[in-house]
Amino acid sequence: MTVLNNLNLPEFIDFNEAIDIALSGKKKSLRRCYIPVGDVVTIAGYRTLDAPALFTTSEEGTIDKVAFEGKERVVLTGLKQRAVIRRIHSSFIRGIIGDNYKCVVPDNLCGHCVNCFQFGSMNSDTGIQVKSRTNITSSFSLQSADEAISEDEEFHIMVHSDLSMAKGEGEGTQKGASIYTNEVIKPETVFPFLVYIYSPSQFDIVSYIKSHLIADLRGYGSYSTIRSQARSEFILITKDLSLSPSVMLNKSKEEILKSVENKLTITGDSAIKSLADQFESMANTYKNKLYQLGK
Ligand SMILES: [Zn+2]
Repeated sequence: MTVLNNLNLPEFIDFNEAIDIALSGKKKSLRRCYIPVGDVVTIAGYRTLDAPALFTTSEEGTIDKVAFEGKERVVLTGLKQRAVIRRIHSSFIRGIIGDNYKCVVPDNLCGHCVNCFQFGSMNSDTGIQVKSRTNITSSFSLQSADEAISEDEEFHIMVHSDLSMAKGEGEGTQKGASIYTNEVIKPETVFPFLVYIYSPSQFDIVSYIKSHLIADLRGYGSYSTIRSQARSEFILITKDLSLSPSVMLNKSKEEILKSVENKLTITGDSAIKSLADQFESMANTYKNKLYQLGK
């Protein structure tokens, strides 16, 4: 392995062994499985919108905003990021294993695969709960909500005509468009991202980076197939524990890099993105351990 060796992590963790250890000595009725936290790795960078987006968790479709670190900011929740990234991760595992892979995100999680091991699961047959080891934190826009949100006609026309097309002809396009808020989040709005992986292996990091990159192309917002695509600049992967969403907003990239100097860290956007290239060969090396039934 290449720069990943800097982090001094195991290449792969056999989750059946890890789960057995975590469950050993527990009563049958207590099947909540916390993998003991050893190392924590933080992956950090900046995600920039390439297309207008709508990030909303409200029924009215209003853009999620919160006052945080001195400003009202737009929020891209960790749950929204996680939902997209986890589904893509699962599809990559299916690509390696083939149709025998029966784990379905999010409705029918198997509890026996690397996706469940990394993102958590509850298996109703065995009663075993596996706690997620991947914590994707919510992202807050660098820009204020006022700067980031547009009422601009140009975006409305673009978004509404796209939506009309996506909904198909004959449904009454005006009606389709009218349920949406008049606000959109502007392209070029920047959302710092911060992801913690607990007790990580090198494979966890490689598969996370690959899934994150594809998720950016897929988009995270409502109706994301036609908008909210983004691009990420990764700045570091580190074992340093000092980064938080506040730090990401208040410190410059240079200050952040300086603060983790001399610690176990990988830096550089291209070095980090190229880790995704290792997915295929690592996944094939551990193919028989990605999905194991029978425990
Ligand atoms: Zn699974």
